Amino acid sequence: MNYTPEMLEEYLTSKGEKKFKQVQIYEWLYQKQEYDFDNFSNVGKILINSLKEDFNLEFIKMEQVLEGPLVKKFLFRLIDNEKIEAVLMEHDYGLSVCVSSEVGCNMGCKFCESGRLKKVRNLETYEMVEQIILIEKYINKKITHVVVMGIGEPFDNYDNVINFIKIINNPKALAIGSRHITVSTCGLVPKIKDFMDLDWQVNLAISLHGATNEIRNQIMPVNKVYSIEQLIDALKEYIAKTNRRVTIEYVMLNMVNDKEEDALALVNLLKGMNVYVNLIPYNETNHIEFKRSTKERMDKFFNILKKNKINVTIRKEFGGNIKAACGQLRSESD
Ligand code: SAH
Repeated sequence: MNYTPEMLEEYLTSKGEKKFKQVQIYEWLYQKQEYDFDNFSNVGKILINSLKEDFNLEFIKMEQVLEGPLVKKFLFRLIDNEKIEAVLMEHDYGLSVCVSSEVGCNMGCKFCESGRLKKVRNLETYEMVEQIILIEKYINKKITHVVVMGIGEPFDNYDNVINFIKIINNPKALAIGSRHITVSTCGLVPKIKDFMDLDWQVNLAISLHGATNEIRNQIMPVNKVYSIEQLIDALKEYIAKTNRRVTIEYVMLNMVNDKEEDALALVNLLKGMNVYVNLIPYNETNHIEFKRSTKERMDKFFNILKKNKINVTIRKEFGGNIKAACGQLRSESD
């Protein structure tokens, strides 16, 4: 179901029903996972009939699971036959799922496999929620963390992604804490501004990957629409307003964005901001000419940031051998 608690309450009110029934309906759908409205035993007949008339519960299907150490990749088939992927990672702090937000992606980042296929469509809210529900069922455990970092640009499907978060965060639905949810964007500035107006603790991550317009323009077409200055201004505003730390993702591309001057430019750009930089070892793909930075170059880059008091880590790697890593997810299975 695509309805957030507020939307369902509004629906109930429009039917002359009490708002609190939203809680009962959520318990049936998300806790008991009962999908036959006729079995909602604490819900009146009239409301059951309205639900049957107005809602058509639809389901995605788990079609394939690839398992690696501490990581599983899931291929889902949608009702119109499109395919998407999600990834489960076992961290020491919990179980995290990386969900897809679109079929394909229009952002066209040069180094990313998911972006090679144009966007086909947005994912519906329920299609994102069900990625998590089906994975929980498969492993028979609760998911504790969610990152919207799979296929797609979440801020290019803003409303559905926001509704998805409201549902998974709801205590009567999946009850995933807002501080355990992270949305990652390549830099759609107007949506970053919308996002900062939401009164919640959901984390924001930015795929920066370059510290100058020159580098970003080369690898991320979105930068030609929203320049790095506009992006950084929006982030400063976000941090001032929310008092939350922003994660900066920086994929390490050999000889492209990993030079000493790039590290210094990054230090300059982020100086004094409440951010945390995640250096991502690039996952090479079959089709793309970029190479992963060598270990020495990555370490040198890391040390320059560290020395200049920027919070930085090198991302732990997951999923390489089952093509479940960042930038390797596709809407087509090979
Ligand atoms: N569109 C959103 C969500 C995708 S997140 C965004 O850009 O943030 C996926 C992350 O993996 C992004 O930071 C992306 O830039 C990065 N990525 C893409 N291809 C990669 C690759 N081959 N190796 C490592 N990281 C990659």
